[in-house]
Amino acid sequence: MQRALGLARRAADEGEVPVGALLVAGADVIGEGWNRPIATHDPTAHAEIIALRDAAQRRRNYRLEGTTLYVTLGGFAGVVLADVIQLTLSSTAGIA
Ligand SMILES: [Zn+2]
Repeated sequence: MQRALGLARRAADEGEVPVGALLVAGADVIGEGWNRPIATHDPTAHAEIIALRDAAQRRRNYRLEGTTLYVTLGGFAGVVLADVIQLTLSSTAGIA
Protein backbone atom coordinates (compact mmCIF):
# COMPACT_ATOMS: atom_id res chain seq x y z
CA MET A 1 0.00 0.00 0.00
CA GLN A 2 2.96 2.34 0.33
CA ARG A 3 3.06 2.78 -3.43
CA ALA A 4 -0.66 3.64 -3.50
CA LEU A 5 -0.16 6.11 -0.68
CA GLY A 6 2.65 7.69 -2.66
CA LEU A 7 0.26 8.16 -5.58
CA ALA A 8 -2.30 9.71 -3.24
CA ARG A 9 0.33 12.12 -2.01
CA ARG A 10 1.14 13.01 -5.58
CA ALA A 11 -2.54 13.90 -6.12
CA ALA A 12 -2.44 16.02 -2.98
CA ASP A 13 0.72 17.75 -4.17
CA GLU A 14 -1.10 18.63 -7.38
CA GLY A 15 -4.05 20.10 -5.50
CA GLU A 16 -6.36 17.17 -6.18
CA VAL A 17 -8.35 15.07 -3.74
CA PRO A 18 -5.67 12.70 -2.40
CA VAL A 19 -6.56 9.32 -3.84
CA GLY A 20 -4.16 6.80 -5.34
CA ALA A 21 -4.89 3.48 -7.01
CA LEU A 22 -2.96 0.42 -8.12
CA LEU A 23 -4.06 -2.56 -10.13
CA VAL A 24 -2.09 -5.67 -9.25
CA ALA A 25 -1.81 -9.01 -11.02
CA GLY A 26 0.03 -11.53 -8.91
CA ALA A 27 3.17 -9.76 -7.75
CA ASP A 28 3.07 -7.22 -10.56
CA VAL A 29 1.65 -3.72 -10.55
CA ILE A 30 0.05 -3.45 -13.99
CA GLY A 31 -1.68 -0.11 -13.59
CA GLU A 32 -1.50 2.96 -11.45
CA GLY A 33 -3.23 6.28 -11.14
CA TRP A 34 -3.91 9.25 -8.94
CA ASN A 35 -6.77 11.72 -8.92
CA ARG A 36 -6.43 14.25 -11.75
CA PRO A 37 -9.89 15.67 -12.55
CA ILE A 38 -8.86 19.27 -11.91
CA ALA A 39 -5.67 19.18 -13.97
CA THR A 40 -7.23 17.32 -16.87
CA HIS A 41 -10.66 19.03 -16.81
CA ASP A 42 -12.07 15.53 -16.78
CA PRO A 43 -14.69 14.50 -14.22
CA THR A 44 -13.83 10.83 -14.84
CA ALA A 45 -10.12 11.22 -14.08
CA HIS A 46 -10.35 9.41 -10.78
CA ALA A 47 -7.34 7.45 -9.54
CA GLU A 48 -9.05 4.09 -9.89
CA ILE A 49 -10.26 4.83 -13.41
CA ILE A 50 -6.80 5.96 -14.48
CA ALA A 51 -5.27 2.80 -12.97
CA LEU A 52 -7.75 0.64 -14.87
CA ARG A 53 -7.08 2.50 -18.12
CA ASP A 54 -3.33 2.22 -17.57
CA ALA A 55 -3.54 -1.53 -17.05
CA ALA A 56 -5.85 -2.08 -19.99
CA GLN A 57 -3.50 -0.17 -22.28
CA ARG A 58 -0.52 -2.16 -21.09
CA ARG A 59 -2.36 -5.44 -21.55
CA ARG A 60 -4.00 -4.21 -24.72
CA ASN A 61 -7.16 -5.77 -23.39
CA TYR A 62 -10.08 -4.21 -21.57
CA ARG A 63 -10.65 -7.39 -19.60
CA LEU A 64 -8.71 -7.25 -16.37
CA GLU A 65 -9.87 -10.35 -14.58
CA GLY A 66 -7.58 -11.89 -12.04
CA THR A 67 -6.42 -8.51 -10.82
CA THR A 68 -6.84 -6.66 -7.57
CA LEU A 69 -7.58 -2.97 -7.42
CA TYR A 70 -6.17 -1.13 -4.45
CA VAL A 71 -7.59 2.31 -3.80
CA THR A 72 -6.43 4.43 -0.90
CA LEU A 73 -9.74 6.15 -0.34
CA GLY A 74 -13.24 6.17 -1.69
CA GLY A 75 -14.74 5.57 -5.10
CA PHE A 76 -14.63 2.64 -7.42
CA ALA A 77 -16.86 3.58 -10.31
CA GLY A 78 -15.95 1.68 -13.44
CA VAL A 79 -14.80 -1.50 -11.76
CA VAL A 80 -17.67 -3.56 -13.14
CA LEU A 81 -17.01 -2.28 -16.65
CA ALA A 82 -13.45 -3.56 -16.51
CA ASP A 83 -14.33 -7.02 -15.21
CA VAL A 84 -12.13 -6.74 -12.16
CA ILE A 85 -13.10 -9.77 -10.16
CA GLN A 86 -11.39 -8.92 -6.93
CA LEU A 87 -11.39 -5.55 -5.28
CA THR A 88 -9.50 -4.52 -2.20
CA LEU A 89 -10.15 -1.12 -0.70
CA SER A 90 -8.08 0.39 2.01
CA SER A 91 -9.14 3.70 3.40
CA THR A 92 -6.57 6.03 4.81
CA ALA A 93 -6.88 9.29 6.61
CA GLY A 94 -4.66 12.27 7.11
CA ILE A 95 -2.43 11.88 4.10
CA ALA A 96 -3.11 15.33 2.65
ZN1 LIG B 1 -12.91 7.82 -7.57
